[in-house]
Amino acid sequence: MRKIILFTALLLNPHIYSQDTDEFSSFIKKIYNEALSNGKAYEWLDYLSNQIGGRLSGSVSYDRSVTWGKEQLSLINLDSVWLQPVMVPKWVRGAPEYAHIETRPGNNISVPIAALGGSIATPSIGISANVIEVKNFDELNQLGMENVEGKIVFFNRPMDPTIINTFQAYGGSVNQRTQGAVQAAKLGAVGVIVRSMTTNLDDYPHTGSMYYDGISLNQRIPAAAISTNGAELLSSMLKLNPNLKFFFRQNSKNFPDVLTNNVIGEVIGSEKPEEIIVVGGHLDSWDLGDGSHDDGAGIVQSMEVLRIFKDIGYKPKRTIRVVLYANEENGLRGGNKYADESKEKNENHFFALESDAGGFTPRGFSFDTSDKEFKSLKKYEDLFAEYGMNNFFKGGSGADIGPLKDGKVILAGLRPDTQRYFDYHHSAADTFDKINKRELELGAAAMASLVYLLDNYKL
Ligand SMILES: [Zn+2]
Repeated sequence: MRKIILFTALLLNPHIYSQDTDEFSSFIKKIYNEALSNGKAYEWLDYLSNQIGGRLSGSVSYDRSVTWGKEQLSLINLDSVWLQPVMVPKWVRGAPEYAHIETRPGNNISVPIAALGGSIATPSIGISANVIEVKNFDELNQLGMENVEGKIVFFNRPMDPTIINTFQAYGGSVNQRTQGAVQAAKLGAVGVIVRSMTTNLDDYPHTGSMYYDGISLNQRIPAAAISTNGAELLSSMLKLNPNLKFFFRQNSKNFPDVLTNNVIGEVIGSEKPEEIIVVGGHLDSWDLGDGSHDDGAGIVQSMEVLRIFKDIGYKPKRTIRVVLYANEENGLRGGNKYADESKEKNENHFFALESDAGGFTPRGFSFDTSDKEFKSLKKYEDLFAEYGMNNFFKGGSGADIGPLKDGKVILAGLRPDTQRYFDYHHSAADTFDKINKRELELGAAAMASLVYLLDNYKL
């Protein structure tokens, strides 16, 4: 029966089916079987999410996750496991934020907000000011100082719902969050409220990083995310009464950098040990939820790649490292540190793969490499067809592995379905109950399969 199938496949696809691809195909099946029958990813993530929880850089729980990651990697008998020290920013949210819309004196409607990561506090009595709503920086700059000074700028550009890939829609809106405070401060605003980065209408504020680059210390103004329902309400009330006031209070604070670690585990290659393959995600997360999708999923999937290889007895030909990166969310110091040290040591990275797009059903891989290399890698796409993720395309890879880019290393990212990611991203809704065990395991299996293929590529 098997011979007949293979023969038919040969007739249909004579250029694809070689002895190699048949061998690859059965090995990938073995990887999937292992991930779906004896997978550890879900159990690991349960612990990371429910016993450790949100892991903001510089926090005690981040350091607990480092200890846990090192312990778990040691238990799977890698050749070595170590910590890589790295200095990271420390920002603390403080007491829960509070905000309300003041329609007339004494008449307030409270709305959910969350300080943006890196934002300063408001004065302890809060800020109350008129609001100017804009969709983008052009609109803001056209209004000019005479309309903005002394006010709270309300950035209310939704993620474009017509864009199918929600990461693209996020990319089209997120500058309000990262740079909105700077743009508004330059025109004399006293605070910034940003519509949450989600296509959902709900009551969760979605936090995320913001930066004060380009303005002086005393120009800094506080910035917070407002839930999308809150944003809709504020916008409609402003239409009725452009003179309404908005009040918000937060006591978030930046502290000096602190020392923490990336966690690294490694299996030395049997044929080309000097060529390194990295698989990873980021161990830190925002503090509002437990960071199950962002990026607990990527962490446990990356760990699972080496666990699967160990347990099915696969001996890599190249050196394979799993890296649990520190501080992706508000600084990328972990990714930069890893790349810097690797450069100093003259290490030779052959391939790097990141999972940082949630633990949802995997759909494919994006590759950041030359056209020529991509064309050659694309021939592996069909091997993933029966797993529903034969979509190889050129695109980004992952923030943490980005600093390794040197024109030679092949970079790739796991691309799960994107439709639900921003329902949870950076909010209190990013919790373990949103994880589907099989989807998580399928992602780990896909990653292990791609790492296996690249381990055998260009030997
Ligand atoms: Zn992430």
